[in-house]
Amino acid sequence: MNAEPLRRYLEFYRDLGVKSLYRVAPPPGAAARVRDRQEAAPLPPEPMLPILPSLSPEDDTLEKIRADIGDCTRCRLHQGRNKLVFGDGNPQARLVFVGEGPGADEDAQGIPFVGRAGQLLTQMIENTARKEGIPLRREDVYICNVVKCRPPENRTPEPDEMEICGQFLFRQLAVIHPKAICALGGTAARALLGRKEGVTRLRGNWHGWRDIPVMVTYHPSYLLRPYNQNAKREAWEDLKKVLHLVYD
Ligand code: SF4
Repeated sequence: MNAEPLRRYLEFYRDLGVKSLYRVAPPPGAAARVRDRQEAAPLPPEPMLPILPSLSPEDDTLEKIRADIGDCTRCRLHQGRNKLVFGDGNPQARLVFVGEGPGADEDAQGIPFVGRAGQLLTQMIENTARKEGIPLRREDVYICNVVKCRPPENRTPEPDEMEICGQFLFRQLAVIHPKAICALGGTAARALLGRKEGVTRLRGNWHGWRDIPVMVTYHPSYLLRPYNQNAKREAWEDLKKVLHLVYD
């Protein structure tokens, strides 16, 4: 990659808050083949492989991002994956929900938030909207996760996994450019805001990812636990704020 495109490319990711980049590992045996070739006839230095898939931020699209992800093996989460879960919903949505990562049902179907937590999220969106007089269906919003592959035993994604896969999330958000983002749970809040505080401290107030307002609220899987009645009420309050900001 020439210096100028590389500079623009790195600036774009710096603006998105990405602090480190990774190189695509050469295929097995590549180093030995290069050494053999160099012994036979010295070669000019090999150009570095692109750090990330080539990107023109101005004309980026969800289709290009999905194509760039490909059959991704960039982090260890690919090892247990059945289906990669990219995102679902309206590509021109005014509201995007960001969760943590796929669970078992999502991994099986390749669609985010389709298990019990997903059904609760759908109910929360549609019931709250109806009560507030806003005609909104789940398919009108866009839903995705910080990591696209299921972490083993549904563990929290590791920081390096969030950073690598989060670059695709940031591109999705930049392309859709919704009027607001709702971060579901602490992992989404950390990825978007870089904040370490828990949801209880962050929820209920507006934050920001670039120029887009972000509301943090509880992940629906937390709300499914029977002793979290207060959290349910708070999540409904958070959602009401989001819906009125976006659709009033
Ligand atoms: S979680 Fe993201 S970065 Fe990791 S393998 Fe899956 S798509 Fe690639």
